[in-house]
Amino acid sequence: MAELSSAPPLDAAPLPKPPFEPRFCYSYFALYGDPLLDPELDPYPDGYLARLAASGVEGVWLQAVLYQLAPFPWDPARSARAEERRAGLRRLVQRARQQGLGVWLYLNEPRAMPLSFHAAHPGLRGVTEGDHATLCTSVPAVQAYLRESIASLCRAVPDLAGFVTITASENLTNCWSHHAGKGCPRCAGRSPAAVIAEVNTLIRDGIRQANASARLIAWDWGWADDWASEAIGLLPQDVILQSVSEWSLPPQPGRHPDHRRRILHFQHRPRPARPTPLGLGAGTRSSRQCQDPGR
Ligand SMILES: [Zn+2]
Repeated sequence: MAELSSAPPLDAAPLPKPPFEPRFCYSYFALYGDPLLDPELDPYPDGYLARLAASGVEGVWLQAVLYQLAPFPWDPARSARAEERRAGLRRLVQRARQQGLGVWLYLNEPRAMPLSFHAAHPGLRGVTEGDHATLCTSVPAVQAYLRESIASLCRAVPDLAGFVTITASENLTNCWSHHAGKGCPRCAGRSPAAVIAEVNTLIRDGIRQANASARLIAWDWGWADDWASEAIGLLPQDVILQSVSEWSLPPQPGRHPDHRRRILHFQHRPRPARPTPLGLGAGTRSSRQCQDPGR
């Protein structure tokens, strides 16, 4: 005990930390619909999970819409079947764990609401796009909603492996998600990096609030080069940054331009002074093995 209680020898080299190299993937035959409610749509039957595990996969992911899995305070009807979906998610997590796999949820939150919703809740409205407008994440009540929703989901499904966020492009979510935050009276005066890092921080805080072991991967998909570095620097250290290794590389002759996004994974996006979050779920691994959730 005395030896173990003493400091290590000065010349003792620390063991290298294992890199965070998750190998998780999407179902090859997932269908649109509500698989957590409808067993007929199960994208991960037991045999498939076993095959994935046998091939070295460590996890699977599926998309989640937060108001379908956690109470939506301004319109409870949207979350009326949340408990059923949580039960479905628990069953999936348990089945996956039996194969040694984790379940990750892809989040693109908070989802924009119809203008009819905002007519009844004008204090939540941010950027308008078509017939929807954002739930402005600079509003404290929206911040609390994100944090509390994640916390309650983590409590209800404590063995979740984690969450992957896309916070720019894809669905209209935060006010800078489509690079038009100037249209929000609150977010216009904040940088896209501050708003987007804050969304990830709120989700991370919800995980911590529940004291859950779930991890958070923030994907920089859609982040503009002129503020991505600032956003990365604002992420909490325990948030894992995922990038696409071929960002900003010139297209190669003879390849379709899209190939550089989807197939080449061996160089990192050049960025100044990239900080070092807990891990880097770089495209060198994850993009190769994951289907893009936004497509
Ligand atoms: Zn806003």
